[in-house]
Amino acid sequence: MIKDNIQEVLDNIKAACERSGRNMDEVTLISVSKTKPVEMLVEAYDAGSRNFGENKVQELCDKYEVMQDKYSDINWHMIGHLQRNKVKYIADKVCLIHSVDSYRLAEQISSEAVKKNRVIDILIEVNVACEDTKFGVKVEDALPLIQEIHNLPGIHISGLMTIAPYVENPEENRPIFKKLKQLSIDIGSLNLDNVTMGVLSMGMTNDYTVAVEEGATLVRVGTGIFGERNYNI
Ligand SMILES: *Cc1c(COP(=O)(O)O)cnc(C)c1O
Repeated sequence: MIKDNIQEVLDNIKAACERSGRNMDEVTLISVSKTKPVEMLVEAYDAGSRNFGENKVQELCDKYEVMQDKYSDINWHMIGHLQRNKVKYIADKVCLIHSVDSYRLAEQISSEAVKKNRVIDILIEVNVACEDTKFGVKVEDALPLIQEIHNLPGIHISGLMTIAPYVENPEENRPIFKKLKQLSIDIGSLNLDNVTMGVLSMGMTNDYTVAVEEGATLVRVGTGIFGERNYNI
């Protein structure tokens, strides 16, 4: 049951907070609902989830349209790679875009946000593990990118995000989470205009407890809540 799964994840987050001397309310669980039907999102909502993560623009928009009236207090997170020509569809729907990794994408978000008369919170996606298959900037390119974009209107840089590799033993990802945390401290200490580093989006089903121990404020859990995804149906 989705409800039991969410409770289990929250219990694990709580235990990880206790082990690392953190406060449970510093951590928000994002239910990653990609590929899952609206009925399952409603189940998660009824179990208390108010944060949902999607990685495709079309799917996010479809679910948003169906759910916004009755479930208007959901926060929608765009966690996947985002094409510039699709920013306009989500600019008025999302609370946070986790996957900004280029000047041109930030500029597009800025211009759509200005059109919609809002400020969109964004995270810089950092490819800490340097995997070829992943998006995101290299660790050393995060600050230069932030320096280029932080004065754009209509966006606020709220922190950093990373996708760690899939590993058998989640301990293997601990150095990656530590590195992202340190990078956020370093960048935060510069006190750039329009940049805060309070948000660290890291940790998925396989490794979220380690991520919480290392300072995650947003964990993105899909399989652990909704079960395995089937891309063939
Ligand atoms: C799918 C996805 C997740 C959730 O992955 P699980 O292993 O199912 O928890 C988290 N973050 C991103 C960016 C994703 O695309």
